[in-house]
Amino acid sequence: MADLKSSRLETRLMHAGMAPFNPETRSAPVALPSMRTSTVRFADLAALDQARRRQLQGERGVTYGRAGMDTHAALEDVVCCLENAQRGFLAPSGLSAITLAMLALLNAEDHVLIADCAYGPVRYLDKTVLQRMGISTTYARATPGDLKPLVRENTRMLYIESPGSLLFEMLDIPALAQFARDHNLLLVTDNTWGSGYAYRPLDLGADVSVIAGTKYIGGHSDLMLGAVVANDDEIIQALNVNHYAMGYSVSADDAWLALRGARTLPIRLREHAQNALRICAHLADWSQTVQIYHPAWPQDAGHALWQRDCTGSNGMLAVELAITEAQSRRFVDALTLFGIGFSWGGFESLVQWVELPALKVHSYWPGRSNPIVRLHIGLEDPADLIADLDQALYCALKT
Ligand SMILES: *Cc1c(COP(=O)(O)O)cnc(C)c1O
Repeated sequence: MADLKSSRLETRLMHAGMAPFNPETRSAPVALPSMRTSTVRFADLAALDQARRRQLQGERGVTYGRAGMDTHAALEDVVCCLENAQRGFLAPSGLSAITLAMLALLNAEDHVLIADCAYGPVRYLDKTVLQRMGISTTYARATPGDLKPLVRENTRMLYIESPGSLLFEMLDIPALAQFARDHNLLLVTDNTWGSGYAYRPLDLGADVSVIAGTKYIGGHSDLMLGAVVANDDEIIQALNVNHYAMGYSVSADDAWLALRGARTLPIRLREHAQNALRICAHLADWSQTVQIYHPAWPQDAGHALWQRDCTGSNGMLAVELAITEAQSRRFVDALTLFGIGFSWGGFESLVQWVELPALKVHSYWPGRSNPIVRLHIGLEDPADLIADLDQALYCALKT
């Protein structure tokens, strides 16, 4: 096989996690099947001992189904390929991947700095689990200047998400990585937005990257999945031990679906990104539009950082409208091609009416009382999405 390390990401992504040739038939399936099994049998005890030795050395050795078989190993390879990581661990959801990263790398009495733009349920994890484990947290705007006075003697981790949830503000990951190194903190990033293709936090200095594969990697709104990737041996060892101890397991069928999704990630993301820019350009013409939140949009405050650090974009955007709350709710209800719902990353367009309390905790939110609507721009023809947005605005404004 060609030296894939020297190839470009898109080429490597198509060849990562391929089934090896069967030495007897000298053939292999192009698409790796879903290898469903709960356990493994060995030809003899020496083979079992070998698998166990590999496990003890922290390598991928399978003695039982919970660790996952070839389908899982292939997906781990694909995620590592996307994120340029040494090792990846799968989790049954994005949130459980965040939990794995936190519980593997934190101890009782540790303190964590959390970007206030992080995915909302992280606060729920904090309130219900981390606090009970004796782990304390501080939420702040994630810039070195804002974070510096908040570092304590027991601060161990800086947890960020870039672009931020809901308003997609770009964080300066290289500067935050330097800050983390200077203060001896682990930098953990939620990279669901970039999913490795559009953004690679490990390359920018992060220690750990977490992805909700539920979103763009799966890409078809039909599975739940998470992944945690890292390069440092000590971090990998901690993740490995905790992944096993906490009983994390992913269905082979879900791993198979995610593997199938990942093969088309580049072309889907490019299309989502292109469609989203078309929608931004249209929304910018509405007299009711106050601000568009989308880092690939040239007027976005984070555009320069996006240009510097990202290799692509996606279909997520938010728009702030100078209309009343009641009008904004009528606007959302009147949309016909956008499903009202949480999540994103699938083929279809979705809309979320953003609740004020969710925005109030984000320091990036400008604090104006205008309603904010978050859109996931799917793979529909953007002309149809534009017509739908126009008719919904018309419905919202007519009395
Ligand atoms: C959806 C999401 C998650 C959680 O993923 P699940 O698979 O739904 O648990 C985490 N982070 C971000 C940024 C997300 O959008």
